[in-house]
Parts: sequence; structure tokens; C-alpha cells
Amino acid sequence: MKTIFSQIIDREIPSSIVYEDDLVIAFLDITQATPGHTLVVTKVPYQNIFEVPEETLKHLFAVVQKLSKAIFKAFDAKGLNLLNNNMPEAGQTVFHYHVHIIPRYEKEEVTFKLTNHMSTLNSDAYKKRAAMIIAALS
Ligand code: AMP
Repeated sequence: MKTIFSQIIDREIPSSIVYEDDLVIAFLDITQATPGHTLVVTKVPYQNIFEVPEETLKHLFAVVQKLSKAIFKAFDAKGLNLLNNNMPEAGQTVFHYHVHIIPRYEKEEVTFKLTNHMSTLNSDAYKKRAAMIIAALS
């Protein structure tokens, strides 16, 4: 079954499109978490970051930067968050790769709560976690 974003790409359902090229499309997120909240979406319905080819990701992030600048200026924003949820555990609800551009106007309007676990970790724990990532890269 087609994703809701593929239906937008194929003009089967309405949306507020702000940018489109061969590889990506951008439109307003229906929720407008903040004024100007925009999604940048791959045209091919890759499910998450693990599936997107590197060249497409490079292009998508160039578009993300271009749109971030435009949104920041157009809405006279004071800050801006980029968000990409991958898989349900990380909050993904539409399984078609997308990056949220969320312009910010004040600190309290959106909450991304990251817990600080520093007080429970010693230097060995950091070394072990870094080694796990480095090993997985090779
Ligand atoms: P995520 O939870 O990261 O997968 O984000 C999916 C986003 O898609 C949510 O912020 C929704 O508000 C947004 N969304 C769902 N349906 C539509 C739609 N028809 N038009 C625009 N945005 C949508």
C-alpha cells in the first residue's frame, strides 16, 4: 500500500508543497508544531535512514539546508531544529523517509527531553561505548 507521502507526491491528497525536484519533495507538516514546520521527503518511499542511498541523502540534506535558510528568514525564527525519527521506538509514525524542519520562536513550545546520564557513568563506560561504535564502522 502507498504511504501517505507517496499519495501527496502523486497529488492524490492535498498538501502545501513548498519545494520539489526529481529526488525530494517538501511540504508543510499538517500539525504545524510551530509556524513553518516543514517535511523534506524522498520521492522513493524508503522506510528509514538505513535504506536511503548515500547520493540521495547528500542531495536531501542540501535541500534541507536551503529550506532551513528560507524558513528561518520567512518566519523571522529565532532557532531551528532538524528531526528524523527512524522506527516506532524512535517515534516514527509515517514509514517513508523524511526530515522535519522545525523553526523555533521560544524555548518551551516544543519539548525534546534528553535525559543526562553523566552522573551514572565512569570513563570506562564511555570508552566501551565508543569502542562498540568504532568496531561496527569497520
Ligand atoms: P514522524 O512521526 O517523524 O514519522 O512524522 C510524520 C509526520 O507526518 C507527522 O508530524 C505528521 O503530522 C505528518 N503528516 C501525516 N500526514 C500528513 C499529511 N497528510 N500532510 C502533511 N503532514 C502529514
